[in-house]
Amino acid sequence: MKKNKKIAESICKVAKLLYEKELTDLAGGNISVRDGNLIYINEVMSGPKYYWSISPDSIIVTDLCKIPVIGDVNLITREAPTHYMIYQNFSDINAVIHCHPLYPLVFASAHMNIPNVSEMSRVMIGEQPIEFIEETVPSSKIQAKRVVENFKKRRKEKKDAALICTVPFHGLFVAGRNLNEALVYVDIVNNCAKLLIYRKLMFADNPDSDLSIRKKFTKEDFDTMNDFKEVCETGYKYINAFGEETIYKRYNPNKKSSK
Ligand SMILES: [Zn+2]
Repeated sequence: MKKNKKIAESICKVAKLLYEKELTDLAGGNISVRDGNLIYINEVMSGPKYYWSISPDSIIVTDLCKIPVIGDVNLITREAPTHYMIYQNFSDINAVIHCHPLYPLVFASAHMNIPNVSEMSRVMIGEQPIEFIEETVPSSKIQAKRVVENFKKRRKEKKDAALICTVPFHGLFVAGRNLNEALVYVDIVNNCAKLLIYRKLMFADNPDSDLSIRKKFTKEDFDTMNDFKEVCETGYKYINAFGEETIYKRYNPNKKSSK
């Protein structure tokens, strides 16, 4: 069996991005991707040994129960129990990221959930806050069970819930339908936590500040984001793409142009 080079490369690219964007540290983190019946996962000590500059050749491939297919199974990241247990329990999940982003960790280490207040966290994650699980020995099976329990609870509350949780004094676990989604979730949660912390630091003592959410958006509000939007009023005079004087009239993107 041959390794899918694109998948291995995508894991390396995401690893580098996580470190460059300060979404993880040199101490740890790990990334995996499911491709059919195979799991692609990074080596142990990718941060401390390689400063997150890892090669696609180092990515290990196994089956869903960590039986090796390509590479040395003994070199797989220590957080494998959580990664594999997530895949075994959620058939729609094809990527898992574990990382150590500072701002969500500030919340987790105060045993606080992270409310979704930033624009994108409200759009993509919604009303469910990012919860912390109990303090747990890293890399343990009990950690895997607690992460999966938290994710199942989220899905019970909301059938398409984003699967994200924090571990106090440790890090973040995120599962996505693909690697891109998982990475974007990490970034969104980090930015949301950062916004909350900075806002409090800078303005909590300012009597003019208002730290409440003034407008609660509904799903219907957010759905309008995808509507086609005209950017000028019918009757607006302008020079079109062919250099002709034109009067703008309502444009329908689904109607084929005669030009
Ligand atoms: Zn960790």
